[in-house]
Amino acid sequence: TYQVHIIGGGLAGSEAAWQLAQAGMKVRLSEMRGSGEMTPAHQTDGLAELVCSNSFRSDDAENNAVGLLHAEMRALNSLIMTAADAHKVPAGSALAVDRDQFSAQVTEILRNHPNIEIVRERIDTLPASGLAIVATGPLTAAKLAESIGAATGSDSLAFFDAIAPIVHRDSIDMDICWMASRWDKGDKDYINCPMSKEQYLAFHQGLLDGEKTEFRDWEKDTPYFEGCMPIEVMAERGVDTLRYGPMKPVGLDDPKTGRWPYAVVQLRQDNALGTLWNMVGFQTKLKFAEQVRLFRTIPGLENAEFARLGGLHRNTFINSPQLLDGQLRLRKAPHIRFAGQITGCEGYVESAAIGLLAGRFAAAEAQGTAIESPPPTTALGALLGHITGGAEAENYQPMNVNFGLFPPIEGKVKKKDRKSAYTGRAREALSEWMAQ
Ligand code: FAD
Repeated sequence: TYQVHIIGGGLAGSEAAWQLAQAGMKVRLSEMRGSGEMTPAHQTDGLAELVCSNSFRSDDAENNAVGLLHAEMRALNSLIMTAADAHKVPAGSALAVDRDQFSAQVTEILRNHPNIEIVRERIDTLPASGLAIVATGPLTAAKLAESIGAATGSDSLAFFDAIAPIVHRDSIDMDICWMASRWDKGDKDYINCPMSKEQYLAFHQGLLDGEKTEFRDWEKDTPYFEGCMPIEVMAERGVDTLRYGPMKPVGLDDPKTGRWPYAVVQLRQDNALGTLWNMVGFQTKLKFAEQVRLFRTIPGLENAEFARLGGLHRNTFINSPQLLDGQLRLRKAPHIRFAGQITGCEGYVESAAIGLLAGRFAAAEAQGTAIESPPPTTALGALLGHITGGAEAENYQPMNVNFGLFPPIEGKVKKKDRKSAYTGRAREALSEWMAQ
């Protein structure tokens, strides 16, 4: 018998199992690998297998949001961080690990934990009762995905991540751009970047010439062409296709000239704080370095800082802002929590961090108590806030942790001190929260 059922033994499920077990809860951890099943990206039966890079990214807790998240997870006794620290390999200021030793240690510790039973089995339906955490990741097996879709409404489950680049608002040059909606209808909701004919033609050529990432074999039969075509694919269809699509200038008077520019790039607010803006219709398979180079040729975006770059890949995730409450519970069936990448966070560290929170929330609930969510000024709280409420639900897209998800620093802070202001504030808030 068990008190909490965790489905999926990846980064999030392993961390959640550890947190629950350490709190004295009996856990059943169901992982389909090892029962004859595999995902298209995993290669072993090990728990917390890293499917691609071996990097947990920056370990700088003073100036980097993911480094701060590392520190907060260590403070909360994270198994994933303990195993990563124990098996790190040289990588400058980044934290990179020996993937086999890392996964072996996580597997070993969970296997030997008296409160955890690891069962190699595929789960096909959401549990009807009992506390559960679904942590089946971006490659959730098809039947369970169907069951999730049925429980949440099919529009709420995405199978593809078609991400337009997201820009930090304070890096946009508003002397060049202006706020307006097309035909001046409604509020001035969009930031508009005007392009002349020469600029547009050069940009179009840049899209054609730019180096693109290839689709993996199992990603090729993708439904994405229906809904959201990559901009470079649109560019290939003809020189004016983009000017009749996402770069349409019609109804957008540039206040400097009183006329419509030749083409326009629009940005739409992406989070409730208004610190992050996404480039409308700009999903792309261009390589990251190419995106930075090319998108900085857009007038007004010369110094753009990107919170995330565009991309397109297979990714199963739910519309968390709509579906989950502040403690990661499915509103319609609150005995079920979601954790990891399926909630729409992005990355190994973020997935494990949300697993950590789901585990702690579930442990408190099983004990008949409750813990408050971490404050939004911490990295854990900022990430949780993005997932459960900060993002615009209609346009919810996965994201790595970044300072744009934090409430802005109050008062004047010099640009060079801004990052340490975020991390200093976070450290204080975390210790206050932990003291409670
Ligand atoms: P996972 O680690 O995938 O764990 C989910 C587990 O659930 C798996 O073990 C799976 O076998 C199991 N499972 C699925 N369905 C069922 C079921 N029905 N029943 C039982 N078990 C089930 N992030 C980075 O930070 N860096 C990268 O380089 C990186 N590369 C990526 C490459 C690819 C191809 C993909 C798909 C993702 C990548 N990610 C990367 C994103 C993401 O951080 C990882 O996918 C991460 O592993 C997510 O953690 P998770 O715990 O949510 O899911």
